[in-house]
Formats: sequence, structure tokens, C-alpha cells
Amino acid sequence: MENLSNIQTVKELLSRHGFTFSKALGQNFLVNPTVCPKIAEQGGAGKGVGVIEIGTGIGVLTNELCKRAEKVVAVEIDERLAPVLEETLAEYDNFKLIIGDIMNVDLKALISEEFEGLDVVVCANLPYYITSPIIMMLLESRLRIRSVTVMVQKEAGTRLLAKVGTRDMGAVTVAVNYYSTPKLLFNVSRGSFMPSPNVDSCVIRFDIRENTPSGVTDEAFFFKTVRAAFSQRRKTLCNSVSSALGLDKALCAKAIDMASLPPACRPEALSMDELIRFCECLKSVLP
Ligand code: SAM
Repeated sequence: MENLSNIQTVKELLSRHGFTFSKALGQNFLVNPTVCPKIAEQGGAGKGVGVIEIGTGIGVLTNELCKRAEKVVAVEIDERLAPVLEETLAEYDNFKLIIGDIMNVDLKALISEEFEGLDVVVCANLPYYITSPIIMMLLESRLRIRSVTVMVQKEAGTRLLAKVGTRDMGAVTVAVNYYSTPKLLFNVSRGSFMPSPNVDSCVIRFDIRENTPSGVTDEAFFFKTVRAAFSQRRKTLCNSVSSALGLDKALCAKAIDMASLPPACRPEALSMDELIRFCECLKSVLP
């Protein structure tokens, strides 16, 4: 296939297929030729590896994945792109397209049916409107995957890459660090996309932890409490958790004391171990 990073080629291809961009689906396609090879390489596409791609667009990243990986299965929501991909990926017999919403695909079944005997990684230039839900779904479902490498907009990247115990963190920071080790791979300027968005992006790789941090006896309760803790920024842990979960303040204060934390501590000042300790103490004092 001709160079899919060439703007003239892309325009000609899209107009031939009568394709118009959908803003609602986050369709900003990569047209910077240096970016996709780097995502594919640093995302782990190689021999013995099966790749799940989310959102193919016209297949510019898919091409680089297919060149390197044993097999690529891509999930794309926009059925208008199927005939485009038939053309742009015609040379590969290690590619399979699933038209659908990634949030509704049974990834566990997909992995066991398509990737037997292969290591599995996820690579994607994610649609910005659904970045966090997709990342959380991939991490929480405890799939047999080694890493998740995604391009996200800078603002989302800041939250995802924040260190636990710092001002920039949020509930999503706790979750990604619980399940993985996030690492910034590189930044990508807004001019690398067609159409060009208003913000720059970055590529992050989440290396999935073999063992999640110890001490959590009830993950659903832990994450519910963490979300409550970060629901009202800059409030104390006691005030946020009691108001968001509808609990008596005295119970939260008791749990904070049992966890040996300062009475007026703020959630963004706590380490992962301290958050776990607080949640376990809170659980133990609930009626
Ligand atoms: N990978 C291509 C690239 O880098 O040029 C396209 C990336 S574009 C930012 C996001 C892609 O995700 C679009 O093709 C869009 O149609 C698709 N998409 C949006 N929502 C989706 C969903 N819920 N499930 C699967 N694909 C989705």
C-alpha cells in the first residue's frame, strides 16, 4: 500500500471512499510517518506476539503492527472504514478486523480464540472521548496481556502518569498503578494528526503487573472508596469519603486513626500502602 502518512494519499483514499471524519468517534488519524513505527516497536509487536488494536482508522498503525507481529486483531467501531482497510491492508494475511465497540467485545474469548500460544499486547491511538474507560476496562478485566501501549491526549496523560502521593493524581492514577507500571514513551505534537486536534498527545505504555499490591481484601470496595476519596478535590480524606459514600464522619475519622494517618490528611498525599490501609480499616469499622 502507498504511504498512509502522506496527506495527499490519505485525502485521495478517503475521497474515493466518500469518507468524512466523525468528530464524535474521535477520528484524528496519524499522518506523521515517524510515530507508528515507534508505537509498534516500543509497544512490543514482534515475533510470537499477538496484537489487539483499538480503532484502526485507515490502518496506518495497523500496517506497522502487521509488519512486525505474528497476528493483529483490530476492533473498529466505524463500519465505513471496512472497505478502506480491505484496500490498505490487502497485503497482510495476519490481520483480522472486528467491526464493533471495544467496550462490548468479549476480549477474554477473543484472546483465547485468536492468540493461542502467543504473548498478547494492546496497541492503539485511542479515541479521546473514551480514553479512561477503555484503559480501565483493559486493566480491570485481568486479561492475559503483557502491556497496553496507547496514545492519549496530554491532559489525560498527566493524570495517568502522575505519581501516587502527588497533586496531579486522581482515582485513575491509583487504579493504573495498582494494575500496572505506567511509562511515558514519547510526546506527539498536534500537527501529527489529520484533522489536527487542539492539544498535543503522548504515548504511554502500561506494563501489566504480575502481582497487584498486597493487602486489598475486597477490590470493589477499595476502588469505590478510592473514587470517593478523589471525588471532591482538595478536601480532606475524611470529608470526601464520608460525603461521597454517605457515611458518618466519625466512622471515617476512626478508620483514619486506626490506619495511623493524620486526621486532616488529603487523599493526594497518601501512598498506595496508606490508601490500602485506610480502606481496609474503613471496611472493618462499617456496621
Ligand atoms: N489508529 C488510527 C490512527 O492512528 O490514525 C485511528 C485513531 S483515531 C484517534 C481513533 C479510532 O478509533 C477511529 O478510527 C474511531 O472510529 C475508532 N473508535 C472510536 N470509538 C471506538 C470504540 N468504542 N471502539 C472501537 N473503535 C473506536
